[in-house]
Amino acid sequence: MIFIRKKIIEKIKKEAKYIFPNECCGFLSGLKNKNIYMIDDYHSCKNISRKPAQEFRIDPIYQIKLQKKLRTISKNILGIYHSHPNGNINLSKKDIYFFNDINLLWFIIALSKKKYSNILVYMKKNNVNDEFLTCEYHIKNEKFFKR
Ligand SMILES: [Zn+2]
Repeated sequence: MIFIRKKIIEKIKKEAKYIFPNECCGFLSGLKNKNIYMIDDYHSCKNISRKPAQEFRIDPIYQIKLQKKLRTISKNILGIYHSHPNGNINLSKKDIYFFNDINLLWFIIALSKKKYSNILVYMKKNNVNDEFLTCEYHIKNEKFFKR
């Protein structure tokens, strides 16, 4: 079960439009308890790919720094998001190649004509083969945790 704050959905959709025709990317963080994901924050990253209109790459140093920062507030990276400016909601071949972590959710924001965006969430089924599940997510209006 996936819960995500409404504000985050709005912000990442906005970011996808703003960065168009390039792909935007970033992390989603929060707490996971067994199979329940509670996503309460997002962390936008610079797409460091040399072909940012066709793929995304996140600076690994940024990821390590973010992980450390989140650990100090007892949170974790729960997912990655990125946009598909070509409107395709499916995982690309490259996405599948880099999709290795079965605990990480992948949010794809597909844009069509820069105007309409659609989000689909993927999870890797197991470590053996490239099988993915699409997941439903539930939107929450409020913050999960008080700081
Ligand atoms: Zn992609």
